[in-house]
Amino acid sequence: MSLPTKAKVVIIGGGIHGLSTAWKLSEKYKNPNDVVVLEKKDTAAGASGIACGVVRNNYFQPAMRELMAHSVSVWESDPEAFKYNAVGYMQISPEVMHKDVASIYEQQKAIGYESEFIEGEKDCMKYMQGIFSDWQAKGITSVLHEKKGGYAFNKDSIKALEKKANSNGVNVHKGVKVTGFKRGSNSNAITGVVTDKGTIDCDQVVIGAGPWVRDFWNMLELPKTTNIKDAKNGKMHEVEMWKYWFLQEGVLGVDADYLKTNEGKPPPVIHVDTDAPLYSDKDGKIITEDLWGIYYKPDIEGLGVQGGTSPYIVQKHFDEVNVDPYGIDSPEYQTTDKFSDMWTSALAHIQKRFVGKSHLYRKGPSGGLGCLTPDSFPIFDRFFENVYMIADANHGYKMIGVGHLVAQEILGQESELLKPFRFDRYEKGKLHPTSNSPFPWS
Ligand SMILES: Cc1cc2nc3c(=O)[nH]c(=O)nc-3n(C[C@H](O)[C@H](O)[C@H](O)COP(=O)(O)OP(=O)(O)OC[C@H]3O[C@@H](n4cnc5c(N)ncnc54)[C@H](O)[C@@H]3O)c2cc1C
Repeated sequence: MSLPTKAKVVIIGGGIHGLSTAWKLSEKYKNPNDVVVLEKKDTAAGASGIACGVVRNNYFQPAMRELMAHSVSVWESDPEAFKYNAVGYMQISPEVMHKDVASIYEQQKAIGYESEFIEGEKDCMKYMQGIFSDWQAKGITSVLHEKKGGYAFNKDSIKALEKKANSNGVNVHKGVKVTGFKRGSNSNAITGVVTDKGTIDCDQVVIGAGPWVRDFWNMLELPKTTNIKDAKNGKMHEVEMWKYWFLQEGVLGVDADYLKTNEGKPPPVIHVDTDAPLYSDKDGKIITEDLWGIYYKPDIEGLGVQGGTSPYIVQKHFDEVNVDPYGIDSPEYQTTDKFSDMWTSALAHIQKRFVGKSHLYRKGPSGGLGCLTPDSFPIFDRFFENVYMIADANHGYKMIGVGHLVAQEILGQESELLKPFRFDRYEKGKLHPTSNSPFPWS
């Protein structure tokens, strides 16, 4: 398939956001090459193809919750194609998070997002043992049980989006690497996208480049730092524009239906945060006495139980982080033995069935880099008049609906759901509230 020389919209990145935008735009732009997707490797080659696949609403930030509720409706629009398992999601928390999670529950009720909230240590234990009889995590004082959400199969859902866009006439050009942008002489706008296979002149550009967003920021010569206004005293702080985090995930090699509920049903996605001391499942030594958290669910390839813990910050300037080769091919960024000891011990802490099972951890490459923004929340905004940046701060596999809203904005209708994620929130000091969760994105 030869590269066109002209397009209405060039979308960069064959992940969840690029393809979801292409799908929605192609419902309106129907001529050949109106919408062109450029992908340097293959669709699902980036973060979307290695995501754990968890889809949840549990966010402390009202704007995030509303956006997630919209995305869940897109997941629900074609569960079969997206391989979306609507098994629900549970946020299980200690007292230090009780108030935050209670407010999430109240606001879920307000937006009609179905969930149940259980409070008090005794009732939480009873509720959890009603689902899994071997539940044993102590010190839990709230359980938020989201009845919607769950998880989807990472690569399958991306391929399904590609198919939907293809069937509306969109060409996805694979093996085409974007190397720069062409600018006009009498405006700031971008007039073309330069690739290793030629240049495409276009009216609009959408960047959905996941962990590679830094490269595009640099190609556009945008500033390396940004100023954030402190809402309390009005002072400005200068911060680095991007920060890389490494997402630690792995698989415990048990039977595919090892996690079934008491009733033999597929389990909801489990996320536990706790301040109970964590001891090693191998030697009983203390691992941590600080607040910790893990999540888990059945592995999508049937290899056992898959999940992860809080990510860690890569202690390098963002320009020095080698994003390529990405994911399981990275020689530099992989989950460590420290992770497997912590995660398998945490599973044993939570459910008796995992006690003495840490040796079943499947060694091998896993996890991946995420590129976070100054406040760890997404930036969905236009730069240089016609470049739409989808920088999801690694929240994004679950955000299948963002592309639809971006398409809507490109077609001229501003989205109320995307407005709270504009870049100028930093200088205006209009940041999203932060919670007591140990995760940077809760
Ligand atoms: C280990 C891990 C687990 C995760 N788990 C979850 C989860 O359970 N739930 C959740 O909601 N989120 C999860 N995330 C976050 C989520 O995966 C990302 O936020 C989301 O997939 C980003 O989507 P994207 O479309 O922006 O980017 P990507 O999926 O990374 O796609 C970007 C694409 O751009 C291409 N590209 C890059 N540079 C160029 C170039 N120069 N020219 C052309 N193409 C280029 C890449 O090859 C890539 O295919 C996880 C992330 C990681 C790393």
